[in-house]
Amino acid sequence: MSDLRDLYQEVILDHSKKPRNYRDMPDATHQADGHNRLCGDKLHVYIKVADGRIVDASFKGVGCAISTASASMMTDELRGKTLEEARRLYNFFHEAVTTPPTEDPPHLEELGKLGAFSGVREFPVRVKCATLAWHTMQAAVEKSDEPVSTE
Ligand code: ZN
Repeated sequence: MSDLRDLYQEVILDHSKKPRNYRDMPDATHQADGHNRLCGDKLHVYIKVADGRIVDASFKGVGCAISTASASMMTDELRGKTLEEARRLYNFFHEAVTTPPTEDPPHLEELGKLGAFSGVREFPVRVKCATLAWHTMQAAVEKSDEPVSTE
């Protein structure tokens, strides 16, 4: 299990150093801003939806390693998902980073690589960094014009 944990940490490190899908999306159908004042992370998430399915996802912004890696991995995972599947993943992810460290998060299997972030449970301040991209994505999908805050 500790090997798996190391592997997961490596995945996060890799995505924070070389973020995927870091670009503007002029033809995005949904987008939103997210701000985590606690850490100073600012993200802009773009999503392109066609026939109820996410065909492209990207992000821009500045953030710490955790928020950047989370946005990078989220945009990778969302591509090809339906909006319903995206919402489920959002719920599982939220659950994985907020389940008390003494318990096992219930849907780690469904999360795959994203389960790497369950480690932030031991660092409560980092939970908002890990979830910022997801909150922002959800706001984009709901087409809220209000900037998202993790407060
Ligand atoms: Zn952060």
